[in-house]
Amino acid sequence: MKDYLVKAMTNDGLIRAYAASTTHLVEEARSRQDTWATASAALGRTLTIASIMGTMNKGEAEVTVKIEGGGPLGAIVADANTQGHVRGYVKNPHVDFDLNSKGKLDVSRAVGMSGNLQVIKDLGLRDYFTGEVPIVSGEIGEDFTYYYATSEQIPSAVGAGVLVNPDHSILAAGGFIVQVMPGADDATINRLEEQLKFFPAISTLIQEGKTPEEILYRLFGEKEISIHETLPVEYRCKCSKERIANAITGLGNEEIQAMIDEDKGAEATCHFCNEVYHFTEEELEALKN
Ligand code: ZN
Repeated sequence: MKDYLVKAMTNDGLIRAYAASTTHLVEEARSRQDTWATASAALGRTLTIASIMGTMNKGEAEVTVKIEGGGPLGAIVADANTQGHVRGYVKNPHVDFDLNSKGKLDVSRAVGMSGNLQVIKDLGLRDYFTGEVPIVSGEIGEDFTYYYATSEQIPSAVGAGVLVNPDHSILAAGGFIVQVMPGADDATINRLEEQLKFFPAISTLIQEGKTPEEILYRLFGEKEISIHETLPVEYRCKCSKERIANAITGLGNEEIQAMIDEDKGAEATCHFCNEVYHFTEEELEALKN
């Protein structure tokens, strides 16, 4: 199954829902950054949720999410646009722990529970929205649920899951965001909470071959919800040699001369995709002001 997401609304107009299958994009991130299993799960959950959040905006808007929980992973950063392009990295990719007491990858231990989740929306024309909440569980889905409830005041349920093969490649990944619209009564919210309580892990559903549509049908009932958009999602970085060159120019002539004299060139690696860019002495010379 290709990676894609669907946007849907219940027919009574009270709940909007997004679901995504992201196995391939999480595998792309894993192979580029050589993340170990627990790190793959943490990064994969974050990338999945960010990819959905990116498509909730319009036009040129971009969303950046940063999770700093104080755990061994260090910061997790992801950004996404409205086209379904997402990229991200984790500061320390070589983190892996034994499964937790529920038999799952111990994401909260890797993320930590003593920091913050930050969301920055660049809505274009210098219009920024920033929200920040403390980490409440370190399991990432619950942290985004808390973020929506407190920072955006939208009652939501956010879930994301990643299953890892014994060889560390990604077996299955996916996620959902479900949001209650203004005007929904307590009964609607309570019913949703009940349905989610007994809902299987989304990574398991993806592994069984369930599509994002089928996952929402299972949650709400096929006759109760309508899919109104389907969009491919993929890992795509926006780095380029030109962007790195601009950054080098920004360091100033003195710094560039030091690279030429001491290193006979420069090498820069993109944090997000691990692409390596080389600059010769001549290229560096040309970047001076
Ligand atoms: Zn890159």
